[in-house]
Amino acid sequence: MAARPSEPIETRLFINNEFRESSDKKTFEVVYPYTKEVIANVHQASIDDVNDAVTAADAAFPAWRDLGVDGRAPYLRKMSELFAEANDELARLETLCTGRPISQFIDAGMSSGLFRYFADGVWTAQGTASTHTPGLLSLTVKEPFGVAGLIIPWNFPLVMFTMKIAPALAAGNTVVLKSSEKAPLTSIFAAKLFQKAGFPPGVVNIIAGFGAPTGAALAEHMAVRVISFTGSSLTGQKIQAAAAKSNMKHVHMELGGKSPAVVFEDADIEAAAVETQFSIQFNSGQVCVANSRVYVQESVYDKFIAVFREKFAAVKLGDPLDPSTSHGPQIDAAQYKRVQEYLGVGEKDGSLTQGGDAHDGFFVKPTIFEKVPEDSRLMREEVFGPVVAINTFKTEEEAVWKANDTEFGLYASVFTKDLDRAVRMSKALQAGTVGVNCTSPTNAKDAAFGGYKMSGNGREGMLYSIENFLQTKSILIKSGQGSQGLF
Ligand code: NAD
Repeated sequence: MAARPSEPIETRLFINNEFRESSDKKTFEVVYPYTKEVIANVHQASIDDVNDAVTAADAAFPAWRDLGVDGRAPYLRKMSELFAEANDELARLETLCTGRPISQFIDAGMSSGLFRYFADGVWTAQGTASTHTPGLLSLTVKEPFGVAGLIIPWNFPLVMFTMKIAPALAAGNTVVLKSSEKAPLTSIFAAKLFQKAGFPPGVVNIIAGFGAPTGAALAEHMAVRVISFTGSSLTGQKIQAAAAKSNMKHVHMELGGKSPAVVFEDADIEAAAVETQFSIQFNSGQVCVANSRVYVQESVYDKFIAVFREKFAAVKLGDPLDPSTSHGPQIDAAQYKRVQEYLGVGEKDGSLTQGGDAHDGFFVKPTIFEKVPEDSRLMREEVFGPVVAINTFKTEEEAVWKANDTEFGLYASVFTKDLDRAVRMSKALQAGTVGVNCTSPTNAKDAAFGGYKMSGNGREGMLYSIENFLQTKSILIKSGQGSQGLF
């Protein structure tokens, strides 16, 4: 199947409502991971380009803010329509960038729904009033920050894009979004949709480029007042340091994970095996919430592993553009190499019992390691590949200890039919989300999403997404001879 789409792909920066080349003309290649064919040369934003984008956003801010919630909502609703209409093109571009099978693409529909959701939901974050003290009317109001810098990863580029840009805009901020250097094409395509929707110039600026210089320039910029970042914990630390050193901008972070799933003997074992194998196989394991560690109670281990193995091996490797493909390659050579390194660690420390072998291209077959010591790097570091470690436990106490023995805390699952145990485990597991009898449904309309420990700070989803882009102001109005010397 030919990788190259029939229409030319837009590769330029989107600044102040215009597409333009980078000021120093530097570009970088985007490669279709399946064929390794270069599908686009994308313009990398220089520091000057970042400055231009932030300046445009800064200038556009007062008018965008003053439109108010009702004035902004029609723009966002229009984006919802345009995303739904562009589903097929977005699916193809996203597949070409990432190698995720097109059969797994539901992201344009999700994005469309999120634009509508945030357009209509933002009014709920408007603040409070108090008449507690005689002679004083106290108003606590919410205001946008100004220019929001948004930095996103490559593993679900379109949904990450929408999860940040829709609430930031709905809350009244103007934005500069930097896409991932590995998967910039759907973000640039979305820029065309913003242009079509008639957004005022400067409200939305979309740039591409690497962490340095582009991302770092945004994180350090003195006129950027809030950064919302999704990516690795290591980059999160750099961004937090850059924010602290520059203007103490607010920082919100969604970071990596090493999510455990705990399967008790009283669970529906077949369902637990199906769910947990899907969690680590989907998008070739390149998922922040993938359950890369599975703990199974000894008495049901054989039954569990039999189903897990069978389902895990049933994937169909192939061209991600072919709708029958269910398992694509890793996104690029670097990611493939990283996974290979962890396969080596697993072979040294544990027992390789399925997969692990190479395949043409950047493919890694779904791989199982068993009996891996808890202190192995395979158990402690994020692999970001279809590689699972399955270990056993005897007691609930042991399961809790093993599951929590990590610096990450993004997601944890427990499989049991015992309600008391489900409640105990939900409280004991140290993670931003606990799934009971499920692995990773993370619909922003259902729940807050985010990490404990090194998996991040702040939350996305529901009202939490909007709150990341609002700051709180108190207005105290004194009347007549009212109160003095408060406290
Ligand atoms: P990454 O940290 O390498 O890069 C993420 C983004 O940060 C990219 O756009 C990159 O260019 C930019 N960047 C890199 N260095 C920078 C710097 N110094 N300053 C500013 N920007 C910089 O992560 P990745 O490899 O793109 O994505 C995979 C990671 O993202 C995994 O750790 C995964 O768990 C995590 N992730 C988390 C969530 C979540 O919601 N918690 C969701 C998806 C992915």
